[in-house]
Amino acid sequence: MQRRGLLIILSSPSGAGKSTLARRLMAWDETLTFSVSATTRAPRPGETDGVEYFFRARAEFEAMVSAGEMLEHAEVFGNLYGTPKAPVEAAVARGRDTLFDIDWQGGQQIRRSSLAKDVVSVFILPPSLAELEERLRGRAQDSEAVIAGRMQKSRDEISHWAEYDYVLVNHDIDETEAQLRTILQAERARADRQPWLIEFVRGLNDEYAVRRGGEKT
Ligand code: 5GP
Repeated sequence: MQRRGLLIILSSPSGAGKSTLARRLMAWDETLTFSVSATTRAPRPGETDGVEYFFRARAEFEAMVSAGEMLEHAEVFGNLYGTPKAPVEAAVARGRDTLFDIDWQGGQQIRRSSLAKDVVSVFILPPSLAELEERLRGRAQDSEAVIAGRMQKSRDEISHWAEYDYVLVNHDIDETEAQLRTILQAERARADRQPWLIEFVRGLNDEYAVRRGGEKT
């Protein structure tokens, strides 16, 4: 009996290291599937449709929502973002774990969905606001106004930290990555996530029976 796939939700304010951590986790475990969201925001330099996001016009995005194709969706920084439902349901049924880089609104919606029991949610906090701002500037991708907007929004995102199963302060990216791996390994080892154990232990019991039989003769 195969276990159901996990939904590993990573949230954090923009700039706290979440995307880097998601990339590293994907490189560490090639069985993980990254949930590619749809968004109405314009691609950044280097981003490819279907890889980082499915870039869609607002009308197309809204049509997907109306058709019930989104597991969750939310407005972030004036753009719409959402998780296509079909790939996630397929992964869960096949026992494949999916990684989500989504905001607190998406996290809340998935935790309230029919897939709630398969969710493991992790919130990443920055070590300080100074560090957060430095990382946003270091990306050199966004204008001053965008950076200021993200700093302002970070307070709102951080206010939802207690809704998550795990909270990590990202002092050191290597250390935080190691903690994430540990969380994933522990969650996979939970008794209720390994339905095949029933059969496995039955096999052990059969072995005991054979041994007992051997002792008698
Ligand atoms: P960015 O535009 O910097 O790639 O992402 C902005 C924010 O939107 C990030 O906090 C990211 O986690 C969030 N986000 C990305 N995809 C989704 C999604 O499908 N749903 C929700 N709710 N948030 C998302």
